[in-house]
Amino acid sequence: MPMINPLPLLKEAQQKKIAIPAFNVHTMEMIQAVVETAAEEGSPVIIQTTPGTLKHAGIPYIAANVKVAAEGADIPVALHLDHCPVYDTVIKCIKYGYTSVMIDGSKLPYKDNVQAVKEIVKVAHAADVPVEAELGNIGGTEDELTVSEKEAALTIPEEAQRFVAETGVDYLAVAIGTAHGVYQGEPELDFERLAAINRLVNIPLVLHGASGVPDKSVREAIDRGICKVNIATELKIPMAEAIKNYFKQNPDGSDPRHYLGAGKEAVKEIIRFKIRLCGSSGLLG
Ligand SMILES: [Zn+2]
Repeated sequence: MPMINPLPLLKEAQQKKIAIPAFNVHTMEMIQAVVETAAEEGSPVIIQTTPGTLKHAGIPYIAANVKVAAEGADIPVALHLDHCPVYDTVIKCIKYGYTSVMIDGSKLPYKDNVQAVKEIVKVAHAADVPVEAELGNIGGTEDELTVSEKEAALTIPEEAQRFVAETGVDYLAVAIGTAHGVYQGEPELDFERLAAINRLVNIPLVLHGASGVPDKSVREAIDRGICKVNIATELKIPMAEAIKNYFKQNPDGSDPRHYLGAGKEAVKEIIRFKIRLCGSSGLLG
């Protein structure tokens, strides 16, 4: 079916206390892996790309690949722009058929973040494209902040309430202790903070940096208002491992269909697991 606006599904997920998984893709094989597995599981799915991936592949290539994949499947597929701080790139993605966008002004002062989101909301909503924004700061791999500094970067519930009202944003990425990339040790999520945000904000909430978060913590986050779970690092690692393994076993191998095929199969396995963890298989049934 044609690519869809994911907002109604995220709202349905919110009511059912499940989440729609959002997978970051970088190659055609990863797009195929996401759509094929979601179809096998009968789950709606969000495919997303960061600006870095768009630089690598080009917006038209990604948009065309996902469009074809979605049209060939009988499950709802959305194409989302992840973590984009640049107005023009967001507009270009909408022009090429993205059905959801994130404008990331989380590094900006509060007022400028509000302004950046408002500008995108105005244009995106006119095109029936919902908008994700982020408030607070989700840490990164190189994160060497002390605990108190980390605490200061977490989303403040009252500020989130104000932010949503002032911007008209459709879903909100919250900083509750997750980080992007690979964790050193087990991440501790601030569930009380999440529950407080969820009490004050009635739009779907988004969990970033979910790779490496224990399954039971992801479930608890979903119970407390997370409706979109982003998975990026956890696809990259098995893909790379499978390809490395392929060459270990086939040192003279050179056929991209074989080594990328091995990567795709590995990615499919983790996608299936994450869809089940989000509970989204039941959404279409
Ligand atoms: Zn993120």
